[in-house]
Amino acid sequence: MWNDGKPYSAHDQMVRRDFLKATGAAIATSALPGAAHEALAANASPRILLKGGCVLSFDQALGDFDKADVLIEGKRIAAVGRNLAAANATVIDATGTIVLPGFIDTHHHLYQALLRNIQGNGLLADYFRDIANGPKSATPFFRPQDAYIGGLSGALRSLDSGVTTIADVSQVNNSPEHSDALIHGFQQSGARIVYAYTSGAGPDVKWPQDLERLLKRYFSSSDQLVTPAFSGSVNRDMLATGRKYGMRIWSHIVETLPNSFPKDFEQMGAEGVLRSDTVYIHFTGATPKQAKLVADTGGAVSAAVPIEMTMRHGMPVVQVCLDNGLTPSLSSDVETSMSADMFTMMRSCFLLQRAMVNERSIQGEKDLPKLLTARDVIAMATIQGARDCALDKKVGSLTPGKEADIVMLRADTIDSFPLNNAYGAIVTGMDTSNVDTVMVAGKIVKRHGRLVGVDLARLRKEATQARDYIAGKMNWPISVIDSSTPGR
Ligand SMILES: [Zn+2]
Repeated sequence: MWNDGKPYSAHDQMVRRDFLKATGAAIATSALPGAAHEALAANASPRILLKGGCVLSFDQALGDFDKADVLIEGKRIAAVGRNLAAANATVIDATGTIVLPGFIDTHHHLYQALLRNIQGNGLLADYFRDIANGPKSATPFFRPQDAYIGGLSGALRSLDSGVTTIADVSQVNNSPEHSDALIHGFQQSGARIVYAYTSGAGPDVKWPQDLERLLKRYFSSSDQLVTPAFSGSVNRDMLATGRKYGMRIWSHIVETLPNSFPKDFEQMGAEGVLRSDTVYIHFTGATPKQAKLVADTGGAVSAAVPIEMTMRHGMPVVQVCLDNGLTPSLSSDVETSMSADMFTMMRSCFLLQRAMVNERSIQGEKDLPKLLTARDVIAMATIQGARDCALDKKVGSLTPGKEADIVMLRADTIDSFPLNNAYGAIVTGMDTSNVDTVMVAGKIVKRHGRLVGVDLARLRKEATQARDYIAGKMNWPISVIDSSTPGR
């Protein structure tokens, strides 16, 4: 275990030492898993051959295969094809599985894993009152150790469900110590995480002044799993700050929030302020003209379809984007109100777009947009997510030379056999129970349906303790069946 024993690499020894210096031993000694450590041990051979699976490469040149092999050397994909010869490789039998790129969630707030499902009936107003932004919301009460354990458990949950990359719009940077703790948890998780540096809440916020320190301390190399980005409300100052440091920018735009959708959006476009470095989150309420403006300026849209539908963000903007040459990627947003697994996101997007087009057809409309196919939404959940995170040179498809972020889904289980259509099985049939094996940069982080090297009992205990602390500060009902608070 990472905390109980020796660090698993020189890099992690350094991470651990720096972290102890910054935040004190309390957090580090309670830190958790060591998934990457175990994965290193599991990957004794630098070559791994995934043999005989149904391989969906999402690489246009390679195509998809009923049956093929994937060869991994170190952290990269070396080859994809039929009957690959691979001397000295550790062979993983992929028979009965679908092998595809790891899913990419382009907008999440991982620290809120501590409060998952707390607002199953919640609307945006409930969320802002209780969870984030409101003067009496929970986020200001998060201590560094709560940010750490929340971020870590959120990231591990994503890995467990086959999500290998998460863009975390980290709204719990309540102080520099919070940022250190959060980044430390992300580094430990073994997930690929875009840490989109966002303001936290409370009196000790040092956003964005602490940015240079963070960049220097943690992000001197881009050749690592956790990389930096910037996030804030869409306005000229925020965009200028992110660009000053050459960072990609994430920004929420929500139709139903006052002052969220910039009134001068078109003007910003005309001035050249809207560029290809920006991911617009939700983008609900966007007109066709505004969607086209984002497409023309090379921007990206992250659609959190299930959350937008349940929390009153406005109608998901998927069709408006598609009509204007813009393919959105998919995101989970907040676990306080919805699951963060990609099956939920893919299925919601698939169903919503088809429901809307089907209804128009029933009403007699002609020349309708194309119905989304199951394969289309898997592409949104993989290669499109990689493009939107500007990581498509590294991940998003099973392309030789890219890093090996790979998921193996069991298709020989009671919910999937006999396998008749791989795309349909994933989007219309499967759930997280089908996630058998997950690999990030060639390291196995989940195998045979279980996270590797994660002490779940300990994680559960520490997450529960942190939740209890925050719930106590908020005077939330202790009972899990009490629904007296709005949104519960
Ligand atoms: Zn969000």
